Amino acid sequence: MDKGIGIAGIAGRMGRLLAEEVTAAGATLTGGIDRPEATVEGTTRFPDIAALAAASDVVLDFSHASATAAHAQALAAAGCAWVLGTTGLSAADEAAVAEAARRVPVVYAPNFSTGVNLVLALAERMAAALPAEHYDAEIIEMHHRQKVDAPSGTAIGLGRAVAKGRGVVFEEVKESGRDGHTGARRTGAIGFAALRGGQVVGEHTLLFAAGTEHIAITHRAFDRRAFATGAVRAALWTRGRAPGLYSMLDVLGMGAGD
Ligand code: NAD
Repeated sequence: MDKGIGIAGIAGRMGRLLAEEVTAAGATLTGGIDRPEATVEGTTRFPDIAALAAASDVVLDFSHASATAAHAQALAAAGCAWVLGTTGLSAADEAAVAEAARRVPVVYAPNFSTGVNLVLALAERMAAALPAEHYDAEIIEMHHRQKVDAPSGTAIGLGRAVAKGRGVVFEEVKESGRDGHTGARRTGAIGFAALRGGQVVGEHTLLFAAGTEHIAITHRAFDRRAFATGAVRAALWTRGRAPGLYSMLDVLGMGAGD
């Protein structure tokens, strides 16, 4: 890295950990941006994303979905790589991310922990092996009470992996927020249940329920630092990388092309 790594959302829970992990990795922290009312300490505060992008080789972005489209434009214009961890993106936001990835390397992952990404890889393989007519896929997640989006980005990522393994369109089989007289379960549906409470960092269970057996894989994150170390690893990996939309599995050498 010639210039260094910048952070969008640097005053946040993830932003502060990311700043520590950039330094711990021996890389240069260029500084960060946050909302005007937030306090940024111990590093350079840039006025906006364009200034941060101009000063950085790569920006770690764990801010808010409302900022994603503007960040996509500014980073692509500056030729700055982007490690995007923000969740709750709309379809339009995701289109802006894909557009930026035509000009710069973008690593976009709903969860940067190594363990969750291994579970994602397994989810796709299990779904391919377990027929949807017999094995009902359900995804149960729990997070701290401050979380604003549901189901979590990781839960949706798991659902997409199951849909991919089954060769179906995720949006057509997603079933979340069941309430009231919902009728019997649709064969092939991928169900979601979101629990919120306390200070749970992140728990995800993928369950395949058949008449004769249940198979469940659970991942529990105890410390947000699991995401921060993975995201910094992704940031260092972008160096010299061609423009494109990459996942954490690509960073771990387990992507589709590996
Ligand atoms: P947080 O609320 O503690 O931090 C977000 C920070 O972004 C705040 O300091 C806020 O002021 C700032 N911010 C909001 N809008 C901004 C804008 N327009 N420009 C610049 N800064 C802005 O939240 P958090 O727990 O740190 O999580 C941040 C995001 O990262 C959320 O979307 C969360 O779901 C996601 N997240 C992703 C992963 C992952 O591995 N991908 C892990 C944890 C959290």
